[in-house]
Amino acid sequence: IKRIGVLTSGGDAPGMNAAIRAVVRAGLHHGLEVYGIYDGYLGLHQDRIVKLERHSVSDVVNRGGTFLGSARFPAFKDPAVRAEAIENLKKHGIDALVVIGGDGSYMGAKKLTEEGFPCIGLPGTIDNDIAGTDFTIGFDTALNVVVDAIDRLRDTCSSHHRISVVEIMGRHCGDLAMSAAVAGGAEYVIVPEVAFDKEKLLQQIKEGEVKGKKHAIITICEHVTDVNALAKDIEAMTGRETRATILGHIQRGGAPTARDRIMSSRMGAYAVEQLLAGHGGRCVGIQRNELVHHDIIDCIENMKRPFDQELYNLSTTLF
Ligand code: ADP
Repeated sequence: IKRIGVLTSGGDAPGMNAAIRAVVRAGLHHGLEVYGIYDGYLGLHQDRIVKLERHSVSDVVNRGGTFLGSARFPAFKDPAVRAEAIENLKKHGIDALVVIGGDGSYMGAKKLTEEGFPCIGLPGTIDNDIAGTDFTIGFDTALNVVVDAIDRLRDTCSSHHRISVVEIMGRHCGDLAMSAAVAGGAEYVIVPEVAFDKEKLLQQIKEGEVKGKKHAIITICEHVTDVNALAKDIEAMTGRETRATILGHIQRGGAPTARDRIMSSRMGAYAVEQLLAGHGGRCVGIQRNELVHHDIIDCIENMKRPFDQELYNLSTTLF
């Protein structure tokens, strides 16, 4: 291969810039030409493709978001649209594509690979919900943002003897909520992987009060239940002021942590090495701190993310 493309797709995540930079710099190091595609599969379809130089990725390693832009482009599910996208890649003489994104983006990469255009996926999402990797790009940064928010809520909850319900992102993966619960010392954690029992939660809060707890923090993953309604129920039961805080997109922004920058850089350079070794149709991950690659089709169709039962147990033991 001589020319590779790189795009970011789906929800953005801090560290995507560091990953793009690594793909560009590692590509140039190995004598490849690297092309950047703006706004994910949308820009690929619209042929917004530019050659990236060493300098194109200067001063981005520390920046959140993605300078290439990202997009949701549902039309990419249409094979005819993908055929036009492949034509654009061929027109520029691009032989392989690095896709940085979440599982939706992996799906697009899988389809392109099946249709004859080799792609390699990098896990870019704060949700940590991708199989074949222990961590995704952006997870560590988001976790630090969430823990900082919990620390702030704790101060004011403690002063006012208030109960705080904190809604945390993760889509259908409780990793961010569980990790934040342990790091932030939350009393209760609610994740999609464990059936939510509201009555049991209310009971536990009551027991906590008997033990003398003057405030409480409940971390809950998004999409489990309506947090405002839950806060009302808790307030009605305890007679204690209870507030829900939805952290929302705050969790997706900000400068990536050193850990995210290093992991993104490693993954980006590794992706280029895999392409050079002729390994298309792969997705990159990190497992037990070692870089790994898996078949992207197998990853989407068969691999499951293991639930971190130990971390969940820890979060329920330490409160
Ligand atoms: P994420 O990558 O963060 O999971 P999405 O699920 O929105 O975000 O996916 C990002 C993009 O990937 C979509 O807007 C679409 O362009 C593409 N995509 C998602 N699912 C498919 C699919 N089944 N086939 C082809 N492309 C897809």
